[in-house]
Amino acid sequence: MTMRSFPETSSPKCRLAILAIAVLVQVHIGAGYLFAQNSRIALGPQDAKTEPITRQETLRGSVTPEREWWDVLHYHLQVEFLPESRRLKGSNTITFKALKPGNKMQIDLQPPLAITRITHGDAKLKSQQELKFEREGNVYWVMFEKDIPKGTEDQIEIFYEGVPVVSRNPPWVGGITWGRDDLGDPFIVTTCQGIGASIWWPNKDHGSDEPDRGMQISVTVPENLVAVSNGRLKKTDHDVASKTKTFHWEVLNPINNYGVNVNIGNYINLTDKYQGKGGVLDIEYWVLPHQKEAALRQFKEVPRMLAAFEHWFGKYPFYEDGYKLVTVQYPGMEHQSSVTYGNWFRNGYWARDPCQCGVGLKFDFIIVHESAHEWFGNNISMKDAADMWVHEGFANYAENLFVEYHFGKKDAEDYVVGTRRGIRNDRPIIGTYGSNREGSGDMYPKGGNMLHTIRHIINDDAKWLSILRGLSADFWHQTVTTEQIESYISNKAGTDLSKVFDQYLRTTKIPLLRYSVNGKSVSFYYDRVVKGFAMPLRVSLNGKEIQITPNEVKQTFEFSEEIKTFEVNRNFYIEAAKEL
Ligand SMILES: [Zn+2]
Repeated sequence: MTMRSFPETSSPKCRLAILAIAVLVQVHIGAGYLFAQNSRIALGPQDAKTEPITRQETLRGSVTPEREWWDVLHYHLQVEFLPESRRLKGSNTITFKALKPGNKMQIDLQPPLAITRITHGDAKLKSQQELKFEREGNVYWVMFEKDIPKGTEDQIEIFYEGVPVVSRNPPWVGGITWGRDDLGDPFIVTTCQGIGASIWWPNKDHGSDEPDRGMQISVTVPENLVAVSNGRLKKTDHDVASKTKTFHWEVLNPINNYGVNVNIGNYINLTDKYQGKGGVLDIEYWVLPHQKEAALRQFKEVPRMLAAFEHWFGKYPFYEDGYKLVTVQYPGMEHQSSVTYGNWFRNGYWARDPCQCGVGLKFDFIIVHESAHEWFGNNISMKDAADMWVHEGFANYAENLFVEYHFGKKDAEDYVVGTRRGIRNDRPIIGTYGSNREGSGDMYPKGGNMLHTIRHIINDDAKWLSILRGLSADFWHQTVTTEQIESYISNKAGTDLSKVFDQYLRTTKIPLLRYSVNGKSVSFYYDRVVKGFAMPLRVSLNGKEIQITPNEVKQTFEFSEEIKTFEVNRNFYIEAAKEL
């Protein structure tokens, strides 16, 4: 397919690999002009915020007392998309459990959408009451008549409607895209990573709480359109009188809020099956009719992706919900069990090579990167947006693991080392806790290179593979903190990597190995490192590799012959400078 399939998408922009693109621009100034413009726009949400954290950010990004006392068990979102008036109208039924007594609940919904009514209790039991609520910006305070006792399982239904925010730049800027495909049919999509799911539906908008029993998503659209969401399509209702159809989708597993999505268009459905580590995985491709041939050709990448990632990370985490690719007019997003795809049915990332080494054109970047998030992002999800490297660092790293599985180690190393050109070291990878402020976009290539470096510190492929598989299995369907991931890797590796994590995640400094050669001896020490940093390293002397463990104090190594060349193994992400 060509760009004409997506008339509203006139230029490439992607949250994912935008840093690599930004570098491309500098190299190919003419051709990259549009990239340059859009990379600036796209980087917008990731730009450093230096102003003080606002109360609204605290409410959005922290576990407030009004969030802490209750645990989401299930969401049932029912929402009608009204393309003519560009409105949404619907409700969300939240089933929750009181972890301790509480009578005031925080529900998030961002203007201009508004809550119109909230009921408490089960309608079928005729025990429903209307609840009082008041708004404070993006937050609603919902008041119960009396304390909900600890341990109680209860239900509220929140009715809402309005004209939602329109996305100016999906997927980086959240909201609704009321688009059209190239045949003129409506092509409507939701995106909300970063800004939050409360940009289009009311919920508890914090990463730490996912609905333990999953979610139902019932989407009503004009009868000539198809609505595709997460999980499996259970049934479709056709209301002839109102000329609408309602598509009922069901997700059985916990799901992060921003992973919930709805895509509406003139979709057709192609199906496939994959015999994997968890049995038979049902695969669906939802594409526009004219994309069918290209999709059947390009989506052969999907079983290759599954083979690689089930090898490295263990079984696909959502067999019950199936795996889907759904075409959209933006590059892609890791919507759980419903990965969205807009990569032109071509290899690379919008036909560009993130590493600029040729390897990036050997695979479909969006299928590989976004699907890697099924393991890191959707299976293992961050509690706090400050720890987003757990999603993006691993997804970036997974690209090179895919390459290693299918093309071998040399290509994989070329790729991961090549993506370093996108690292800016502008600010730390870890963001600001409790405020929904992400860290640097370096979380992608620098996060990936940190993991690659750690693999080479451990220097034991079997052990590394067991750590990767162990992460997926031991944090199965959980939300985590970076500390949990860091200490898990250190423990399983049998070596304290805390200084390595501190260096790469919490500073912008790249270790500098200063060395000097004198006859048969070489002296070396680390500069620009956190206190106590003593990362083992492999270097080649006259082409013969040895291991050294530099620290901040100068050490001298005596070699068996006069040293003519000194080279650091490229898999370690450091810099080296020769001193005279
Ligand atoms: Zn990603």
